[in-house]
Amino acid sequence: MGYKKEYYIKALADIAKRRLTADELANSNLLSVYLAHPDIKALDDKMNALGLLAVKSAVKLSGADEIINLKKEYEIINAQKQELLNNYNISPSSLKPSYCCNSCNDTGYVNGELCDCVKKIAKEYYFNDLCEKMPLENSTFGSFDLSLYPDDARNNMQEIFNFSKEYADNFTTASKNLLFLGRTGLGKTHLSLSIANTAIDKGFGVIYGSSQNFFNQIQDEAFGRKQGDTLNALLECDLLILDDFGTEFMSTYISSAIYNIINSRILRSLPTIISTNLSLTEINNVYGERIMSRILGNYVIKQFTGKDIRQIQLLKNNT
Ligand SMILES: [Zn+2]
Repeated sequence: MGYKKEYYIKALADIAKRRLTADELANSNLLSVYLAHPDIKALDDKMNALGLLAVKSAVKLSGADEIINLKKEYEIINAQKQELLNNYNISPSSLKPSYCCNSCNDTGYVNGELCDCVKKIAKEYYFNDLCEKMPLENSTFGSFDLSLYPDDARNNMQEIFNFSKEYADNFTTASKNLLFLGRTGLGKTHLSLSIANTAIDKGFGVIYGSSQNFFNQIQDEAFGRKQGDTLNALLECDLLILDDFGTEFMSTYISSAIYNIINSRILRSLPTIISTNLSLTEINNVYGERIMSRILGNYVIKQFTGKDIRQIQLLKNNT
């Protein structure tokens, strides 16, 4: 998938920062070692000098023998240095920069091509931009309050909570699709975002947001009213969370885009979580049998119950 240039620029800036931090740390470790053990610095100075002599010999036609001798000398001094490091209990790796990416050593490029680590960061920036300002920080399993549910709903909600927590803890791109049904204010968004939080922490590419906004955006991009590649991002991400499914302004284009996303993600075995205020009958009426049968055959359905817990929470906070 291609991303806008700005995402790559941001990603490359991040990588450059990583490299600088690793270099600075290694440098400061080396300076401390030199201060404490001048004998190590003396050996390093000798090796640097031999390196320069080898460069000079390399440009001379008759320099081959000289280079072999210099190399031997270098190896002897290097062995002495390693012995000293060992005696002083200094790990040689602490004196070398420890880069995050082994493929490009945090330069961002491998053989002149952008490294995968840059693409990964650019993708994260793109996904973040797509995800709306949803209260991700406040929506965790720890902040889900089962005591707000009435007695007759609590067992069911406890079961859904446990199921969602286990789903999140064991999340992989082979996880199942989920359909959260239930009226507004029963905690569907809270649990979906808790799953998103856990999956993001595990390093998965998660896109979440209101179904209406995504499909409006996809339609606007298809008809050239906006720039972007939302459709592909929604098709490709590791976990897609469509909140408030059923609030879209339906058009022929949107209806086929919805089918495309639901169906393609099933075919690619990529998990999707849909939450909706609609009942199964209403989904069937709004989206038709084609979408309905894909959902029924491939989604685990959870029916949320209880009273609007946001109302109960408000009342609780005001007393
Ligand atoms: Zn890299």
